[in-house]
Amino acid sequence: MKQWNEECAVVGTYNVENSALISHYALFALQHRGQEASGISSSDGKNIHTIKGNGLVTKVFNEKNLKKLIGNASIGHNRYSTAGKESIDDAQPLFARYNLGEMAVVHNGNLTNALLLRKKLIEKGAIFQSYLDTENLIHLIAQNKKDNLQERIIDALKEIDGAYALIFLSRTKMFAIRDPYGLRPLCLGKITNSDGSVGYIVASESCAFDLVGAEYIREVNPGEMLVFEGLGDKIVTQPKSIQVFAPNPHPCIFEYVYFARPDSKVFGRNVYEVRKNMGVELAKEHKIKADMVIPVPDSGVAAALGYSKESGINFELGIIRNHYVGRTFIEPTQQMRELKVRLKLNPITEIIKDKEIIVIDDSVVRGTTSKQIVKILRQAGAKKVHLLISSPQTISPCYYGVDTPDTKELICANHSLEEVRDFIGADTLGFLSLEGLARSLKNKDHAFCQACFDKKYIDNYTKGLK
Ligand code: AMP
Ligand code: SF4
Repeated sequence: MKQWNEECAVVGTYNVENSALISHYALFALQHRGQEASGISSSDGKNIHTIKGNGLVTKVFNEKNLKKLIGNASIGHNRYSTAGKESIDDAQPLFARYNLGEMAVVHNGNLTNALLLRKKLIEKGAIFQSYLDTENLIHLIAQNKKDNLQERIIDALKEIDGAYALIFLSRTKMFAIRDPYGLRPLCLGKITNSDGSVGYIVASESCAFDLVGAEYIREVNPGEMLVFEGLGDKIVTQPKSIQVFAPNPHPCIFEYVYFARPDSKVFGRNVYEVRKNMGVELAKEHKIKADMVIPVPDSGVAAALGYSKESGINFELGIIRNHYVGRTFIEPTQQMRELKVRLKLNPITEIIKDKEIIVIDDSVVRGTTSKQIVKILRQAGAKKVHLLISSPQTISPCYYGVDTPDTKELICANHSLEEVRDFIGADTLGFLSLEGLARSLKNKDHAFCQACFDKKYIDNYTKGLK
């Protein structure tokens, strides 16, 4: 059974005036993390109200329906998913009534023991409404006998493995939690209301804070739960921190490579800066003579700037992107994927013609994008095309929430470098090494998960996948 809980965006706002409107703006800033569906649940202290739908944030929400999401606390979600599934049952937030009241939950990540848990829960009589791994948590919480939600959530977390940035909303409280590895990002910010009172925001990336005028405070730590309370009594203090699990930080390196927005701070570092460093390291590892270096927009821009700076080769915007086409990766058939690359990217012939070009992108997954890019550059008259990638070869799928295809579809998992170069049609093909990637992070404090590049998975993920 396919899990439909891929890379996503989560947000929560607490003690914030126009909470749902603010959460909706935050989701808008986080649209790049998921375009499949969007949803918000708000609480007015007595009831939780939910609106969710398929499509972009601007399609799902409007002035009229946002007014129905009353209350000063809300949580929201953008869903990223692969081919096909349109079912609204699999959009988030997930809402439930249970014996302590009402709750809603949003989740970014992937629970690696979800199937096993689901089987056990169904054997005990649970009736699942969705295919979401997150629904396991609802059942675990509902079946628990403790008299408060906080303890029930903690007990449920002890049953799950894998990656999660979770936000729960009850009628008066909000809980934000990151898994012990801190695989998926989640940060905390502060919002000052018009009456001077303080509210809080948690979101997958800090670019959401910028849009709503929030001040970045810090990351939610791996294994930490933040408890926001006092809404009912109108005395909201700083969130209480509970270190539920000992931290074992292994944040997802792919957030820096591709997923996060360059203007965001994730895992405490600005993404643009890291990507530029990747380009610098790439230039140190692959010294090539060329007339110019161009990025694949937008994914290769920062790395190409870094490459240009280090190598002294001119940077040009040789390919222009049409911003009104969605991401190409999510198209189901190979033919459609190829067409979408062409719809999205167009080279400037006047710049490219008769030139020797280094073109930089962030990653090669199936090889479709790179092949098309080399083709359009040659059609525009490029003399030579050297393709450099600012990450190592993607050789293994992600089980922690980033949507990568099966090993059999990952071109670098199945072919030698020379075979891949030949397929793509470039004169040169080079990848950043794992060591270069590590150098560009300039991080000595903790490790990162980089299993899609080195197959070293950080937990016993096979437990749930069997
Ligand atoms: P491919 O054409 O299959 O080799 O995919 C590589 C392209 O997809 C690169 O240009 C990346 O910017 C982009 N990409 C890499 N990983 C992902 C992902 N998880 N979701 C969407 N796009 C991705
Ligand atoms: Fe990120 Fe790759 Fe690890 Fe998945 S396997 S969490 S994409 S680094």
